[in-house]
Amino acid sequence: MIAVEPPLALLAELTHRCPLRCPYCSNPLELAGASAELGTAAWQRVFSEAAELGVLQVHFSGGEPLVRRDLVELVRHAAEVGLYGNLITSGIRLDAERLRALAEAGLEHVQLSLQDSEIALGDRIAGLAGAQEAKRRAASLVRQAGLPLTVNAVVHRQNLERLDEIIELAVALGADRLEVAHVQYYGWALRNRDALLPDRNQLETATAAVEAARARLAGVMTVDYVLPDYHAHRPKACMGGWGRTAMVIAPNGDVLPCQAASTIPGLELANVREHPLEWIWNESDAFARFRGTDWMQEPCRSCPLGRQEVDFGGCRCQALRLAGDAAATDPVCRFSPHHDRVVAAREPGRGDDFVYRTMKRPARV
Ligand code: SF4
Ligand code: SF4
Repeated sequence: MIAVEPPLALLAELTHRCPLRCPYCSNPLELAGASAELGTAAWQRVFSEAAELGVLQVHFSGGEPLVRRDLVELVRHAAEVGLYGNLITSGIRLDAERLRALAEAGLEHVQLSLQDSEIALGDRIAGLAGAQEAKRRAASLVRQAGLPLTVNAVVHRQNLERLDEIIELAVALGADRLEVAHVQYYGWALRNRDALLPDRNQLETATAAVEAARARLAGVMTVDYVLPDYHAHRPKACMGGWGRTAMVIAPNGDVLPCQAASTIPGLELANVREHPLEWIWNESDAFARFRGTDWMQEPCRSCPLGRQEVDFGGCRCQALRLAGDAAATDPVCRFSPHHDRVVAAREPGRGDDFVYRTMKRPARV
């Protein structure tokens, strides 16, 4: 029996609804409509249970959490039970009055997404005219409200050449921290891999740009960097290790070890409508299945580098997608017998058209 530490963070996907249509969205292809979402009281109960379980931070996410009319009530309840509240938002529809109410309710941090440095290109990636200007206004409001601001820039083949400008824009927006995150290929991003995957040269140029910015902006803005799995030869510990530090709650109340776990067939997801969060974290099939190292196959079982408790065998969803087995070694690892599939997938994409995220049938634009 594995000793289970309490989770530190809860990603609360309050809704799948969103005014933007980003082609790299990590939400599933089958999006949940408003009628499937947990109500106010259910989310409040979940936040109380999370605090009792030991969770310290709640990330209000989506979709776009601002579309929830009860967001202020949810933020207030989370703060009252002692959770540090972070709003992950596109910034669309944020106004001064709403932000003031959120801050008064106890919101402590805002994370704003940024698609590009150029207005027209940012709007194209977001799939909404006016999105980029709305983000500038949102950043300004966050600074005026005195809340710490992180800018989250998702980078890919169609915006990497402007990474220096994106970094400068984050400085101009007043960000305390910038996260430059390469697209991770699941959800809508996998659907759009051909239009998004960078080549090796682009990746190396981007990595050098981030390193230069870190040196140049020391003391001004922290720059974090998330590499794309496909160009690595060692996998990352997905979510810090399966069922180790964080949980995700989908809009319908399903509790997931990672955002893409619903794609793993046979994984029994428990729902907060039916089970207490403590039981779900400690005992449910979805969290127990790949927790620790006992489930590992070769080559992880006798890893030449002894990294079993460093990377926990990598990403289960990626193992399923590329090796056909969620319990396999993540093929990003050079020891995986399926590593050639990752190498083949590094071929830069063909074509620039996006399949935009949509609640309806996807249309190529
Ligand atoms: S990635 Fe884009 S479409 Fe997806 S939830 Fe975030 S802002 Fe909305
Ligand atoms: S063999 Fe497994 S544990 Fe070792 S580096 Fe590769 S993925 Fe990590």
